Amino acid sequence: MSSETLSSTTDVKNLVHPYTNLGDHLNKGPMIIDRGEGIYIYDNHGKRYLEGMSGLWCTSLGFSEERLVNAAIAQFKKLPYYHLFNSRSNTPAIELSAKLLEIAPKNLSKILYANSGSEANDAAVKLVWFYHNAIGKPEKKKIISRLRGYHGVTVASGSLTGLPANHLHFDLPIDRILHTDCPSYYHGAESGESEEAFTQRLINNLEQLILKEGPETVGAFIAEPVMGAGGVIVPPEGYFEGVQKVLKKYDILFIVDEVICGFGRTGMMFGCDTFNLQPDIMSVAKALSSSYLPISATMISQAIYDKIAEQSDEVGVFAHGVTYSGHPICAAVALETIKIYQEDNIVAHVQEVAPHFQKRLHALASHPLVGESRGIGLIGAIELTQDKASKKPFDSSVKIEKRVQENVAKHGVLVRGIRNAIALCPPLIITIEQIDELFDSLEKGLDEVLEDIEKSAVS
Ligand code: PMP
Repeated sequence: MSSETLSSTTDVKNLVHPYTNLGDHLNKGPMIIDRGEGIYIYDNHGKRYLEGMSGLWCTSLGFSEERLVNAAIAQFKKLPYYHLFNSRSNTPAIELSAKLLEIAPKNLSKILYANSGSEANDAAVKLVWFYHNAIGKPEKKKIISRLRGYHGVTVASGSLTGLPANHLHFDLPIDRILHTDCPSYYHGAESGESEEAFTQRLINNLEQLILKEGPETVGAFIAEPVMGAGGVIVPPEGYFEGVQKVLKKYDILFIVDEVICGFGRTGMMFGCDTFNLQPDIMSVAKALSSSYLPISATMISQAIYDKIAEQSDEVGVFAHGVTYSGHPICAAVALETIKIYQEDNIVAHVQEVAPHFQKRLHALASHPLVGESRGIGLIGAIELTQDKASKKPFDSSVKIEKRVQENVAKHGVLVRGIRNAIALCPPLIITIEQIDELFDSLEKGLDEVLEDIEKSAVS
């Protein structure tokens, strides 16, 4: 047996693959990725792919940034582990916190570290609950999230996630987590409804939900500036302005999930900057370290921190934290990542190449299989449809997004099928030429699937 076959067999025998059709995996086995270079990865047969999704929306600096490797090695040699419990600290975690606060929205002033986006949002939920107990409003605990929103998979963050597959058979969501509309005009507009009217209807619905539940029971609202895993949904003009007015009116905290949007993705440092959001709590992960090591952060306002800290006499220690909060190697890599963003002016680079990315993306709207193309900065998606006029999606048995994804991969580009859409989220260091390479392959893949569908309709 070759070593490749052996690895494949061992994988199928031993691993539970996240977000994988476990039945299919038994038959098909894994695609094993062997190495990375710039925005490309190579599988174990030596085939090269342009990583059009930055892995899982995360490797913003590509796959071979030496500075991150060196930052990790240096810290490994100096102090490979220490924690932040019980007033212990370490220099990379301290320096990272200063750096993060330097670039973050201004009213955020304290940082709690963890390892993943899910944990960062889980902590956000717990902080909302703790805070409302601390200010003597113990009934103000419900959290409103949105359908199609993605906030993670732990019991609390999986409950916030507004996708059916994350709830089905997992006994989620837990109580006190509610979902309001997804701001997708394409999917949600009523016949003849203008985008403005659609937006206003969603804002009214949010207010009605708060009134129905009782504003005194609603503690927070959570949103991604641009929904990612829900299909790359860019909110319509005026949406967040209206939402924030409602939140202020009823004294509801705003948690902004920047796990995908953070660090340049939308063309500004944060989605908060792009959409003028004023978060009370903000979660970041993924591009925080370009995903070279796992690290996430929940950032909170001074007002929230003060109320929590005031409880010290009553509760003793603040009893939250994980073994790896502020892990020095992860923090050192994250610090170096942000230095690279600043020194290389990653935001300016995104602003320079994103118009070309968006131009190629929007040109796909005329493809017979595409109902809508949408995006901002260096994130986007095309929605696949069998009928542009009615926007009718393909039946799930057609597996349209999987077919497109697989055809595009044959042409050396990885994109991700999500429901009836194809998502794109390349490393932020992508060049104009590489953007063309990405879209040329995507177009070829789409054309082949179209040809296939037309052939099977004739036969
Ligand atoms: N929030 C958002 C917006 C995400 O996209 C993700 C992951 N895709 C998460 C939270 C959860 O992050 P993790 O997978 O690191 O737990």
